[in-house]
Amino acid sequence: MKIVLLGAPGVGKGTQAAVLSKRLNILVISTGNILREALKSGSDMGKKAKSFIDQGQLVPDEVVTGIVKEKISQDDCKNGYILDGFPRTISQAEALRDMHIKIDKVIDINVSDSVIYERMTGRRVCMSCGSTYNINTAGRRPKVDNTCDKCADTLVKRTDDSKETVKHRLEVYRNQTEPLVNYYKETGKLVIINGERPPEEITEKILEEIRN
Ligand code: AMP
Repeated sequence: MKIVLLGAPGVGKGTQAAVLSKRLNILVISTGNILREALKSGSDMGKKAKSFIDQGQLVPDEVVTGIVKEKISQDDCKNGYILDGFPRTISQAEALRDMHIKIDKVIDINVSDSVIYERMTGRRVCMSCGSTYNINTAGRRPKVDNTCDKCADTLVKRTDDSKETVKHRLEVYRNQTEPLVNYYKETGKLVIINGERPPEEITEKILEEIRN
């Protein structure tokens, strides 16, 4: 099973990807997470990506396409995978097509801009285990302020989740990523999901669509 998760930043793709990964027993390939890891480790790729990420711009296509190409060729991706945050441009989607990857479903999670702002500016992430929380959403707050429920490490706000950068990331999404909705509509694989519901309901809806 190979799934693409589309949708603007902050619609809950990461949360859904993590749950779907367990339910379907397939890996998540999140280009955003891979880039943030590279940034943390100080690798050449991380250094190259840093200014793009900090400014809410897209990292050049050839960098992210290279990451995905390498990942999907590994043994642990044989069963399938969930692509979270890739492709993000038509050119990346064409690169994926040219890798002769048969995508089963493309899930577009839809959320209004005002809800996205609230979610992204309230998002807190554990730098150790990657768990995400949201101080603006009941049921998604950590039990103890600024502390990860799972590993007790400190939660941080992503530098690119500031109000200004969020605004820019949404513009980038509208201009460069949203055209993918039509691109995938034409393949007949696209499913649009209302993302303004409890996360559990969204997961069930996605699973229902996948099984169809
Ligand atoms: P995300 O965690 O998916 O919101 O990604 C965070 C940042 O990483 C984005 O704002 C981009 O700077 C970069 N990024 C992640 N995935 C891609 C991609 N497929 N193409 C270009 N840049 C990406």
